[in-house]
Amino acid sequence: MNSNKPHILVTNDDGIRAPGLLALKDACAEIADVTVLAPSHNWSASGHVKTMHKPLRVDRVTLADGTEALSTTGAPSDAVALALLGVVERDIDFVVSGINRGANLGHDVTYSGTVTAAMEAAISNVPAMAVSLNTREQADFEPAARFAASLAEQTLERGLPDGILLNVNVPHLPADAIKGVCVTRMGLRIYRDELLKRVDPRGKPYYWIGGPEPTGIEDEGTDIWAVANGYISVTPIHLDLTAHDLLETLADWKLGMP
Ligand code: MN
Repeated sequence: MNSNKPHILVTNDDGIRAPGLLALKDACAEIADVTVLAPSHNWSASGHVKTMHKPLRVDRVTLADGTEALSTTGAPSDAVALALLGVVERDIDFVVSGINRGANLGHDVTYSGTVTAAMEAAISNVPAMAVSLNTREQADFEPAARFAASLAEQTLERGLPDGILLNVNVPHLPADAIKGVCVTRMGLRIYRDELLKRVDPRGKPYYWIGGPEPTGIEDEGTDIWAVANGYISVTPIHLDLTAHDLLETLADWKLGMP
């Protein structure tokens, strides 16, 4: 698999058996050599993980289409770290994570294993993107996969600045019903989490964080607005979380040791 094509690492957080991973791998294989290294089980909403207190295993597996892949006991971000640190011998030019079953909009990016896998690549200055489809149902991932591969191709040509990743969300529509592509900013999610308290067989309470799916504020120009209106959303995200607007204000506080 050493051609002069670029080399893409495909990973996800829904696990190595997820259909969205297979669709993404197939589409990326049209434009690049692809290595798949993904978690052995579902890590959705696992956030950005670095496993430090137990060893990580990597196993060779065969995907549903008969192709070879690697699976790990680690989290999505561990999978990317493992690959970049040498478990995958060939240098990786681009990391694509997904296609997630379920959108990752607004503050979802902080929970998302799909997005944090791409963040892990950005930390190592490897260009990356996360791709999510806005449905929790059985889905046709092909239109989203086709778009992801075309964006990957263009990004490989143009490059991305260090520390930047792309967060892509695709509406769950037939390809010809998708209205186009919007470059967006992160919108505001509205979480409707509810505390569910239950009692175990020994009389001790336990909890689930449950509740309905989050909604969001459909401000024009945001990822939430774009997907709700039938557009593919592409949000550039940087890892610099500094609130630059507040630097001067905070400096005026004249902070010092009491
Ligand atoms: Mn997921």
